[in-house]
Amino acid sequence: MEPKRFELPSGRAEEGFKDKKPLYTQAEAVAEANRCLYCSDAPCIKACPTAINIPEFIRKIGTSNIRGAARTILTANILGQSCAQACPVEVLCAGSCVYTGWGREAINIGRLQRFAVENTLKKTPELFQAKPATGKKIALVGSGPASIAAAGMLALEGHTCIIYERKAIPGGLNSLGIAPYKLKGPEALREMEWVFSLGRIELRTGVEVVEQAKGPGQVSASELIASHDAVFLGLGLGADSRLGVPGEDGEGVEGATLLIERIKAEPGFKLQGVKRAMIVGGGNTALDIAHELVLLGVEVDMVYRRSEKEMGGYAHELDSARVDGVRLVENRQPVEVVREGGKVVAVKLATTRDGKPVPGTEEVVPAELVVMAIGQERATGVAKAFPGVELDARGRVKVDAATHRTGHAKVWSGGDCVNGGKEVVNAVAEAKIAVRDIQRHLVGE
Ligand SMILES: Cc1cc2nc3c(=O)[nH]c(=O)nc-3n(C[C@H](O)[C@H](O)[C@H](O)COP(=O)(O)OP(=O)(O)OC[C@H]3O[C@@H](n4cnc5c(N)ncnc54)[C@H](O)[C@@H]3O)c2cc1C
Ligand code: SF4
Repeated sequence: MEPKRFELPSGRAEEGFKDKKPLYTQAEAVAEANRCLYCSDAPCIKACPTAINIPEFIRKIGTSNIRGAARTILTANILGQSCAQACPVEVLCAGSCVYTGWGREAINIGRLQRFAVENTLKKTPELFQAKPATGKKIALVGSGPASIAAAGMLALEGHTCIIYERKAIPGGLNSLGIAPYKLKGPEALREMEWVFSLGRIELRTGVEVVEQAKGPGQVSASELIASHDAVFLGLGLGADSRLGVPGEDGEGVEGATLLIERIKAEPGFKLQGVKRAMIVGGGNTALDIAHELVLLGVEVDMVYRRSEKEMGGYAHELDSARVDGVRLVENRQPVEVVREGGKVVAVKLATTRDGKPVPGTEEVVPAELVVMAIGQERATGVAKAFPGVELDARGRVKVDAATHRTGHAKVWSGGDCVNGGKEVVNAVAEAKIAVRDIQRHLVGE
């Protein structure tokens, strides 16, 4: 039977975005690989949360062993395709490359990784063979990178994996959140299908795991525990947080992740009548949506309540967004969204001191769209329905760091719901730790 293909509708805004780091040609890849010094105590490996043997795969590219390079990458990181395109290499592997220390251009590790994995998965994807069936069944809640990576590794061990995803489109933020100039939805979905081809993995979309199921489309936590040998929680984060200022509710004020999801997945998405947008926030999500909107032809101000130095977003992402036209407005905060006839026409901004608005400093700045990128709420409430699973004071699922096992003997967890929101590569790294312990628990290895 042909594996199921997950399609996104055509006519999506993300289709118009060009790759910022396109696929290397063979000649470009070999030339770049030959710059690597194959350092013996390679700092780039230590900087990778999944510890990919970077000099080894680069050496293989240099000798045109592309399939071997892909095998090295995917053995350490089963989502090596999306990580090649989405990872902030500037602060991870490439940021620690010895060339960076000498003030020279680091090896383009992400682009080399993309070259090896993308070409191999397109042409000769049969890289790994799953072990014989063990008869063990594992439920994975959520279909983001944490669960997909865990399912792939568990399937290779011969276990049956059933993934429960509440949305119609699987993949979590990997298919619906990453900026389209890095990774487009269909690329994440093709990678996910390759993971599914590795073994016995079943995906149930449109099914939410809840405390107490009340009808079709829901399954209870207790049911999962009773009918599976292990459960992995890859819940991610929840809805976009709101600022709580007057005028915020209603059309014209959007949450950043929801708006990004529309850009990536909604056919015919258009910003009608929007010339100027104001993005509120200073993290990477704020930078991403600001950058995406400016590339869609909107004038963008990004308003941050503290100074540039204090921003949570990466400096390289800010530089890149600025090159395309994003303006950063520091030490300001919206205190009101101004509407006329219900429509957003402006934002009242106050100057801030220590991140708090100073009364009497307000100015009115025109904007037809306001995007809140000030963080996401937690989606971890359901975790408490598994007896023994606890949340910390910030709503994150508590795990043992060495095993990623929760307080319930059959429940493990990883990804954003545990770390509070990091990167795809961290979700994979945490899934690896959990899988090692699940394996120990199920077959004693
Ligand atoms: C806008 C944005 C841009 C980003 N850009 C990058 C980037 O460029 N590079 C990078 O490395 N990282 C990036 N990240 C971070 C990265 O996307 C996350 O770290 C990663 O996706 C976390 O994976 P996860 O599996 O933990 O969660 P998610 O990807 O959020 O997946 C969780 C899934 O669980 C489902 N779910 C939740 N609760 C239930 C339930 N009760 N029942 C059934 N299903 C449920 C959700 O619907 C979702 O599909 C970005 C994040 C955001 C918000
Ligand atoms: S640190 Fe740079 S030069 Fe050294 S092995 Fe890693 S990529 Fe190659």
